[in-house]
Amino acid sequence: MANRDGFIWMDGKLVPWRDANVHVLTHTLHYGMGVFEGIRAYKTDAGPAIFRLKEHTRRLFNSAKIFQMKMNYTEEEISKATIQVVKENKLASCYIRPIVWIGSEKLGISAKNNSTHVAVAAWEWGAYLGEDGLNKGIRVKTSSFTRHHVNVSLVRAKASGYYINSILANQEVTAHGYDEALLLDTDGYVSEGSGENVFIVKNGIVYTPDLASCLDGITRDAIFTIAKDLGIEVREKRITRDEMYCCDEAFFTGTAAEVTPIRELDDRMIGDGKRGPITTKIQQVFFDAVAGKSDKYRHWLTVV
Ligand code: PMP
Repeated sequence: MANRDGFIWMDGKLVPWRDANVHVLTHTLHYGMGVFEGIRAYKTDAGPAIFRLKEHTRRLFNSAKIFQMKMNYTEEEISKATIQVVKENKLASCYIRPIVWIGSEKLGISAKNNSTHVAVAAWEWGAYLGEDGLNKGIRVKTSSFTRHHVNVSLVRAKASGYYINSILANQEVTAHGYDEALLLDTDGYVSEGSGENVFIVKNGIVYTPDLASCLDGITRDAIFTIAKDLGIEVREKRITRDEMYCCDEAFFTGTAAEVTPIRELDDRMIGDGKRGPITTKIQQVFFDAVAGKSDKYRHWLTVV
């Protein structure tokens, strides 16, 4: 990733890609307290358009607030930087990664009086779980690793260190040939994927876990709106693993994963073992929305 052409916005300036470096004694590198976002820009007839930029920037600032990391920029400045990065790198569609980290003035647990820094990078990135996954669905395995407990991690924040848990779960299941991990909460109920929110469909109703242990996903929120507009009811509730084995359809959502059907969980086929009709409908409306083909959802797009 480091050896590329292009520019990364770093603390107010566009820096050549290869020079966008931090010191090895950076506090965040040692203790993991950094916050970040994952955003996508899609190709539209009007040019590249960033999906839900305002909501992503807001979540970044909320993440920083939760950890008492001082932001030296306004939300408007970071939004502008995000637009600038897409423009300057001449990207028609891309993944965008804003990140906030603590500087290298001193180490030790306390980050008090250390500086905070912000960078925004963008690069081309196709379907996270593969094009085939988007069409045919993926094979998922429940991980032995448990998702965060509210008294251990503050999951409204999208924090760097939390992804150790995601990586462990993903490593565990991909080593056995599965595409992605499903994590349960500390009570044993379905929480989310290693980098995705999860939904199931049963008798025409869409269900998803409440936000106690999973990230408040911006795609998840978009799916609520899309489903409602399609006349499909969405309910937040506790979901058990066996409930998911016996559901009609299931899918993951996320900025990287978009809307990815799940065709199998723990070697049990879900529904007919392919993308189900409600998933297909929601996915279609989602991809039309992000591509600027839908007037109804144009307010979700910021044209670069
Ligand atoms: N859960 C986790 C753990 C994630 O990393 C992500 C990706 N940011 C999501 C859910 C989905 O969130 P969003 O739709 O905002 O990308």
